[in-house]
Amino acid sequence: MIGMASLSSGSKGNSTLIRNNDELILIDCGISFKKLKGKLSELDLHEEMISAIFVTHEHVDHVSGLRVTSNKLNVPVYCNQNTGMFLKRKERAPENLTYFENGSTVNVNHISVEPFSVPHDGVDTVAYNVYLNNIKISVATDFGFASQSVKQQLKGCDLLLLESNHDVKMLQECPKRPWKIKQRILGRHGHLSNDVCHDILTDVLHDGLKQLVLGHVSQDTNDYSLVKDLAQKHLEQCGYADLGMHVAKQDEVTPFFNV
Ligand SMILES: [Zn+2]
Ligand SMILES: [Zn+2]
Repeated sequence: MIGMASLSSGSKGNSTLIRNNDELILIDCGISFKKLKGKLSELDLHEEMISAIFVTHEHVDHVSGLRVTSNKLNVPVYCNQNTGMFLKRKERAPENLTYFENGSTVNVNHISVEPFSVPHDGVDTVAYNVYLNNIKISVATDFGFASQSVKQQLKGCDLLLLESNHDVKMLQECPKRPWKIKQRILGRHGHLSNDVCHDILTDVLHDGLKQLVLGHVSQDTNDYSLVKDLAQKHLEQCGYADLGMHVAKQDEVTPFFNV
């Protein structure tokens, strides 16, 4: 079994599981250790199988369960130095912290992980390409616009988890978000709208892509079924109507997408 599942996705907590047979790694741990254990058991997996945790950035929806989980499991946490220093200053850093350079490769057993910079308002946010033998899995959420370099990074993947955060009109009209927050989300260091997500898809869709997962969907300024319908239309326009597509939800574990 080689592939990916989203354990939790959205502004209240994010964690993505990558599996290479008996080895697991997590990308982000924005859920409690208790929740993590429950979610893994839904997939017939065990937390002791986790061998490392990689952090995209320091926002609380990505690190709330990080310290407890890594300390309990005694597994290394990988992030860049800026993110690590921030976690240390806030006393949220795990004991076993290892720094990488953005753009370098980190090998954990048979899994190779490549972090790359994305435009977001964390101190030094990254997304990840993960390589398992010849399989490429890309996990890219929490960035504000579709830069050429990000599009380039996402090319050629077998599995893709991509952000489809908000519907621009719903965000502009949302009474729960103050003006300043709306500007932040819509800005170049905010989050990806459905439209910009589709723009990226136009560039990265290819015949080798086996499964698309859309994530970090806002529950206030977007709608799971809207995300699905709009993405399906876009896939049809691009000639990929039959591509497997799933919208990851805040409180549900996705199926395990095996490649
Ligand atoms: Zn986030
Ligand atoms: Zn963020």
